[in-house]
Amino acid sequence: MTPHHVPAGLPDGIRHYIDGRVVDSVDGGTFEVLDPVTNEPYVRAAAGTAADVDRAVEAATLAFRQGPWPRMKARERARILNRIADAVEAQNDRLAELETFDTGLPITQALGQALRAAENFRFFADLIVAQSDDAYQVPGAQLNYVHRKPIGVAGLITPWNTPFMLESWKLAPALASGCTVVLKPAEFTPLSASLWAGIFEQAGLPPGVFNLVNGLGEEAGDALVRHPGVPLISFTGESRTGQLIFANAAPMLKGLSMELGGKSPAVVFADADLDAAIDSTLFGVFSLNGERCTAGSRILVERPVYDEFLERYAARAANIVVGDPYDPATEVGALVHPEHVDKVMGYVELGKSEGRLLAGGGRPPGLETGNYVAPTVFADVAPDARIFQEEIFGPVVTITPFDTDDEALELANGTRYGLAAYLWTTDLERAHTFAHRVEAGMVWLNSHNVRDLRTPFGGVKASGLGHEGGYRSIDFYTDQQAVHITL
Ligand code: NAD
Repeated sequence: MTPHHVPAGLPDGIRHYIDGRVVDSVDGGTFEVLDPVTNEPYVRAAAGTAADVDRAVEAATLAFRQGPWPRMKARERARILNRIADAVEAQNDRLAELETFDTGLPITQALGQALRAAENFRFFADLIVAQSDDAYQVPGAQLNYVHRKPIGVAGLITPWNTPFMLESWKLAPALASGCTVVLKPAEFTPLSASLWAGIFEQAGLPPGVFNLVNGLGEEAGDALVRHPGVPLISFTGESRTGQLIFANAAPMLKGLSMELGGKSPAVVFADADLDAAIDSTLFGVFSLNGERCTAGSRILVERPVYDEFLERYAARAANIVVGDPYDPATEVGALVHPEHVDKVMGYVELGKSEGRLLAGGGRPPGLETGNYVAPTVFADVAPDARIFQEEIFGPVVTITPFDTDDEALELANGTRYGLAAYLWTTDLERAHTFAHRVEAGMVWLNSHNVRDLRTPFGGVKASGLGHEGGYRSIDFYTDQQAVHITL
């Protein structure tokens, strides 16, 4: 095996960024960050506490109340956002190198993340310049108009899967709206977030507008959620954490945007283009190591094509290349952290009694160390099985047969989640009817995961609260004050 690549120029410590300065925690606390291939600690990161969150919120509040950012013309803010996008795009290769090192994602899939992040900044730059707000006239009586204003200091809390890109999904609309921010990235993967400070400084973002506090969720994240100076929290992560944040933010009635977990169905009808459905459902659960919120991790297949689907799907899954994340041939890399591997392996073992194992089922042969899990396929999984109901967030899929459209719908809707659904059928009427009845925030018909940034993004049921995307994101980060005047 080729030696594991370690990027040159790794920082000797990961620190906070508050009020335009790189700083340590007030109490000097740090935590270990692991390389997911060796599971050796490769750096220590500052472990933020309530005191660090206080400092960051203070800086963000000052920048909001007295700084130029919220008061700039949309066009001026957009110029800076576009400069950020250029700087992000220019770092695509370096970002992919760091992201792969920190997350264990295959390098071929980490490439392009910076381009998507840059696109988020460009998109919201364009949107605020084009933004118009409503005005209503009652002739001879009244003029009413909307005065839109940024809400204040936005608290942004993000997960470890595609960390940089998901941070950009919150940073771009929050900054575009004129808010100032405190970002708390995931503790498993703090490396790429440390790039933002340099990018923002280079682009001319005023000090105090962007603040970064690293640390554990229960400590730094919790302090941000409970801080009285932070009127809104945009959170992406597990549904369980979302529930906790919801409760902890309730006493202050904060604005909340929650992008949470999923257990999304991929429904394959007998009339589907089976080649395309197999390609897509493999991609849907095994790309990004299966650590994808919108993973199609429950495949439902109509009985007449069930056996053929199983045979072809399992053969393809067994051939997926698992290996060192930097090897361009690798399709599934190392999962993010040994704790996460334990969780995923727990479900793999459980699945052996809840379903029929067709592929994988443990560590891939030849990879005795590191966070590797073989792409695992369970067939004949009943809807009350835990592996059918619970989000595994790894390269594990369940397959279940169905006989009628109604049964497929009941199975598709039969979990607490409602993030995405994927439908494979050549019957146009069935596709749209099913799409309208399925409980999912986003539906892909004969396609997967490509979306226009203007569309709503988010889930229903336990998968989320509120939808972002396009103007919805700007609405979340702004107040729309109604002003009325008698004529
Ligand atoms: P997580 O909930 O464990 O952590 C997410 C973030 O919340 C981290 O920064 C963590 O430190 C912080 N956190 C943890 N406890 C907290 C608390 N009590 N108060 C405040 N912050 C706290 O999630 P994860 O394991 O990092 O990410 C995986 C999950 O994210 C999966 O469930 C996945 O489906 C979900 N996800 C959803 C989307 C979406 O758009 N719906 C996108 C990506 C990931």
